[in-house]
Amino acid sequence: MPATPTNPLHPRIAALPKAELHLHLEGSIRPATVVELAARYGDSLTLDQAGARYCYSDFRGFLEAFKWVTSYLRQPEDFELIVDRHADELISQNVVYAEFTVSIGVMLYYKSDPLKNFAAMLRASERALRKGLRLQWIFDAAWQFGPAAAVEVVRLAIEARGAGAVAFGMGGDELMFPYASFREAYELAASAGLRLTAHAGEVGDARKIRDAIELLGAERIGHGLAVMHDLALQDLLAERGIALEICPTSNICTGALASQLGRPSARIEEHPARSFLQRGVPVVLSTDDPAMFHTDLSAEYALAPRLGLTDEQVLAIIAAGFSRSFLATSEKESWLQQLRDRTRDAGDFRSPAA
Ligand SMILES: [Zn+2]
Repeated sequence: MPATPTNPLHPRIAALPKAELHLHLEGSIRPATVVELAARYGDSLTLDQAGARYCYSDFRGFLEAFKWVTSYLRQPEDFELIVDRHADELISQNVVYAEFTVSIGVMLYYKSDPLKNFAAMLRASERALRKGLRLQWIFDAAWQFGPAAAVEVVRLAIEARGAGAVAFGMGGDELMFPYASFREAYELAASAGLRLTAHAGEVGDARKIRDAIELLGAERIGHGLAVMHDLALQDLLAERGIALEICPTSNICTGALASQLGRPSARIEEHPARSFLQRGVPVVLSTDDPAMFHTDLSAEYALAPRLGLTDEQVLAIIAAGFSRSFLATSEKESWLQQLRDRTRDAGDFRSPAA
């Protein structure tokens, strides 16, 4: 079930420009958009019927829902529509920069044409830019499809690099293959100038995170929850400035936090994000699959009191969204300066309820 914030997001935190760095395009499709997509293929769905598919109580149910939603992504125009829809949502939350992770590996698996789909996404991206939201793209391969499939995704990312594909990343079933098998894919990506991310330590152990950094050269880690068991690894992340992309609601909904804690269930209050920050690990806050987890970026920030975060830590997370992004240095600096200008008096951010 989604984690309901106890306090609304402080209006001044809400008003600050933000970046969203861990966001799967295919996980951003709200029920209303599924109704629209289904209509394109002759399926008449009501909003209630679509919404009912988003109710599940375990990871298997989530995967079933995800598969059903993505079964309506058949033409480039469908991808254009979902970028348009989610871009508007991001803009309404004062997100000014987002890196969309796109499941190119899944497109290849279904014999869809990733570059045609990408061209359609770029049309939506241009519209978003005119409304104040800059988008870049992470081409994503799935661990479970193996090393050769990952190399294919990298090749496409290299082709799309000039158009806005800024990074290569991997996600999915992190336990299927040793990460060393993916060295070729990551080395190829690095040699072409792509930035590198990897999901690691979501359900796997801390060794996966270390491998993602040492063997694959990951510059950011998706989730990285398992680092809670390895203080030396936390120090390594802090030393190298490697950010963890923390997605609290996702970690509850998928059972990842419970599994890392070795328990059947876990609460938001038990999330270790605060302890990572205290140890100097850079943390960014993200939604992962906002529609599937019934959340959005504002809702994740509104969880701050339940995560035990101070206002200063929240501001540090907002700043990290820019400083750890794959933007050019000059763009990062310009956003960071805007944040500094607007947050000189951090005391103003204290919630009246705190
Ligand atoms: Zn993810």
